[in-house]
Amino acid sequence: MKIKYLGTAAAERIPAMFCSCSVCTNAREKGGRELRTQTQTLIDDGRLMIDFPGDSYLHQMKYGINFNGIRNLLITHWHSDHLYAEDLAYRMKGYSQGIEQRLEVYVNAYTMKFIERAFELEGRWDTEMFNFHIVRPYESFMIDQYEVFTLPAQHGNFKADCFIYVIREKSGPTILWTHDTGYLTDSMFEFLTQQGFHFDFVSLDCTSQTLPGKISAHMNWRQNLALIEALKEKHLASAKTQFVINHFSHNGGQTYAQMREIAQREGVMVAYDGAEYEITAPQRN
Ligand SMILES: [Zn+2]
Ligand SMILES: [Zn+2]
Ligand SMILES: [Zn+2]
Repeated sequence: MKIKYLGTAAAERIPAMFCSCSVCTNAREKGGRELRTQTQTLIDDGRLMIDFPGDSYLHQMKYGINFNGIRNLLITHWHSDHLYAEDLAYRMKGYSQGIEQRLEVYVNAYTMKFIERAFELEGRWDTEMFNFHIVRPYESFMIDQYEVFTLPAQHGNFKADCFIYVIREKSGPTILWTHDTGYLTDSMFEFLTQQGFHFDFVSLDCTSQTLPGKISAHMNWRQNLALIEALKEKHLASAKTQFVINHFSHNGGQTYAQMREIAQREGVMVAYDGAEYEITAPQRN
């Protein structure tokens, strides 16, 4: 399985549009990996796309992606750095030509309301262009060769309006995708343990980076380390698991270079826009 991070920032991006903090100033000066756009990810060159933020347009230009060729879109939640439904509406007739297949969109009920609102603004609903699948917490379903498991995230309204996912490829690796969520609850851990998962790759919400204290709707670096520990303790992860931190806010206080230095000491990788990871499933007995 190949994972490509198209965007790795929280909603404001880095630099944030109106901000003069040290992280944003550094990003404007240095460019490169210090620049971050909103969170969006491709699995296996677009066999599955996770999230559709406002920066999707920028991503398709920057990486040369033809969104028309993508069949499956998995949406985590309704925040605009993960879903900008007004742009999704441009897949309808009159805005796009040459579309040969429906886009299969997997989304929870609350988040679906944001798509409905955008389509209502258009005054129409093009049923030939989309299939919407409403997903519920603690269930699983297939998208092509991927089995997807849903967990309600500690995020948004904290009322199962935001999901995180486990994605398990048939005869392939299993990944845990935690964007966006605070620290996992006992019920979330219980579900993961019951399923008997072993994660080959974990993408961690590190929005708040080195900010102190307990963050509730996201995580900081300390909570990431605690989660890595807990996953290993519960045999959900091992020394072979690849851990990547992602979804950074400029308010977290660290540049890419600084965060990389901190994370490297613990063997954790730091995502950046355009980063690609190849994940292989080790042979297990
Ligand atoms: Zn976000
Ligand atoms: Zn800033
Ligand atoms: Zn969010």
